[in-house]
Amino acid sequence: MSTVSAANAGTETTRLPGEPILPEARMHVVLPTSPVNGKVVHSKLCTKSKSASFVRHVCVDVSGTPLEGSWLAGQSFGVVPPGTDGNGKPHKVRLYSIASPSYGEDGFGKVLSTTCKRLLSEREPQTPKDDPTDHRLFTGMCSNYVCDLREGDSIPVAGPAGKRFILPTDRNAHDYLLLATGTGIAPFRGFIHELFVGPPEGSPLHAAWRPCTSTVHLVMGTPYTSDLIYDDFFRHVAKQHPNFTYHTVISREVRLDGGKGEYIHHYMDRTLPQFDQMLRSERTLAYICGLAGMQVGVFQTLAQRGLHSGYLDIHAELAGIPPADWTAEQVKRRVHATRRCMLEVY
Ligand code: NAP
Repeated sequence: MSTVSAANAGTETTRLPGEPILPEARMHVVLPTSPVNGKVVHSKLCTKSKSASFVRHVCVDVSGTPLEGSWLAGQSFGVVPPGTDGNGKPHKVRLYSIASPSYGEDGFGKVLSTTCKRLLSEREPQTPKDDPTDHRLFTGMCSNYVCDLREGDSIPVAGPAGKRFILPTDRNAHDYLLLATGTGIAPFRGFIHELFVGPPEGSPLHAAWRPCTSTVHLVMGTPYTSDLIYDDFFRHVAKQHPNFTYHTVISREVRLDGGKGEYIHHYMDRTLPQFDQMLRSERTLAYICGLAGMQVGVFQTLAQRGLHSGYLDIHAELAGIPPADWTAEQVKRRVHATRRCMLEVY
């Protein structure tokens, strides 16, 4: 055991074996109450093929603002859509995960990116006063604003936010299990770029950068194959780096072996030997990003298989209950991620 100043705790504290030392992440250099203007420089659909959903990779130039060079891969930034809400108040800030590496899309920390999915849904009554027969189309205000922007348009931005869902200072000191559902893939695009692609030629960081030598597994879950995001990018990197494995898990299609669709924790359980040794190693860090609630199945599976040590603090109250019988509420209240397990779900 050693004593360090843990950036994620912000205090002098005891570091358990395998716990990462995180870099100091800058936070809120631009406040949402006074956003700065970024400029959209690129916007492209980033799903695999003809998907029923619309997900865009949107790049924003923040050069000349305090955001330039101020974020780390895995943090979020804020978008403050112009105009006012139904009550005449200015719209509130919405947070989007940064999908670019810390050195940006450009290698100079001037252009950040995000993975934005259009919210398209039907209205549902929210209160007893609402009309129960109203089922007109409802479009998410900010996601559609961001996805509609064209190259050259300005966008009010703030941030960055988040100081724990980031890569450790010494990348080669750890192995990585990255678990994503849907647009929860965003931070992992930045991570994988930073670990295996590196800054482009011309970047001041290019010469010193070396590819990561650690073992990295990325498990990505989507409803259909056509919903996979940045699929070509991950496949390309995996082909070039044998220490990086990219797994896709499809929930609503029959598998190649004839089995039914599954969630990422079902896949991990079914193919456990490829994760077992890695999860037992003190070097490994787990990062989980995506749908609220996705941690329930992952935590239950880890505990059921006796692989939770170092990743989860399980309250004594659950000791006598088989993990498969834990309720979602029990997992949320009584199972906590340790410093080796980073969780970003909403
Ligand atoms: P999506 O394309 O619908 O994919 C989600 C996948 O996860 C589907 O295959 C879904 O299966 C499956 N799934 C559903 N419940 C699950 C569970 N309990 N455990 C494991 N897998 C489960 O996803 P999306 O529409 O992009 O939504 C992504 C979510 O991530 C959003 O809620 C977004 O807010 C969140 N997100 C969070 C962050 C962050 O925290 N930083 C960043 C980006 C996105 P079925 O649909 O077939 O049931």
